Amino acid sequence: MDSASDMDWHAARAALEWQLELGADECIADAPVDRFAAEIEAREAKAAPVAAAPVAGQAVTAVEQDPVQEAERAAAGAATLEQLREAMAAFDLCDLRHGARNLVFCDGVPGAKVMIVGEAPGRDEDRQGKPFVGRAGQLLDKMLAAIGLSRSENVYITNVLPWRPPQNRDPRPAEIAMIKPFLARHIALADPDLLLIVGNISCNALLGKTGITRLRGHWAEAEGRPAIPTFHPAYLLRQPQAKREAWADMLALSARLRALK
Ligand code: URA
Repeated sequence: MDSASDMDWHAARAALEWQLELGADECIADAPVDRFAAEIEAREAKAAPVAAAPVAGQAVTAVEQDPVQEAERAAAGAATLEQLREAMAAFDLCDLRHGARNLVFCDGVPGAKVMIVGEAPGRDEDRQGKPFVGRAGQLLDKMLAAIGLSRSENVYITNVLPWRPPQNRDPRPAEIAMIKPFLARHIALADPDLLLIVGNISCNALLGKTGITRLRGHWAEAEGRPAIPTFHPAYLLRQPQAKREAWADMLALSARLRALK
């Protein structure tokens, strides 16, 4: 047998299992895709000047789109969460959207007193179009349940990034900068009393600081609201000894929530 299409069922299955053992967990395409080249091409296309519509009697001028300004304009135009979701779905200047299956916008109860801001969707979130549905999300749900909160009743959840970065890499500063206006508008429209900032990337986006080990457990202000940073549940899965500090953060959140009532 000299080609994949000549394989019998057993040989094809063995080949598939071998790939799974090697760690392949997604079937992307028949032919390899050079994603580095695609990214460079997209960047170059974006950097290319966009010609303004010529006006009679005027010289044609080149106008370059600034992704941050475009994001600010699109976010400001959204008067409701649904309009914001639509504006983000239509925002074409962030390359991450091209590698993602779904826009991951939110889960939970809009208008809840507590809003959680995570980092970025992973594989499960990308598939389902909802934040925190994988293993880290299950741990987050348990942490919330321990202080009487749940996404079905009294918590609203989003992420800094609405699209899964390739190979779950960290977002680049330019990507955070162009998504930040949407995040700020998201918080304004959801209008929570308190923010739970989950993980370093979220601290960076909302507080302009990193160093979660130092920042966690200390109330700060983000988008004009009290905000407490805590460890990311994915980190807690890897470092269970840090759950003790995360628990202290959840108790601090719970106490502040009770003081609102
Ligand atoms: N990690 C995050 O920060 N957000 C998710 O939605 C999933 C994992």
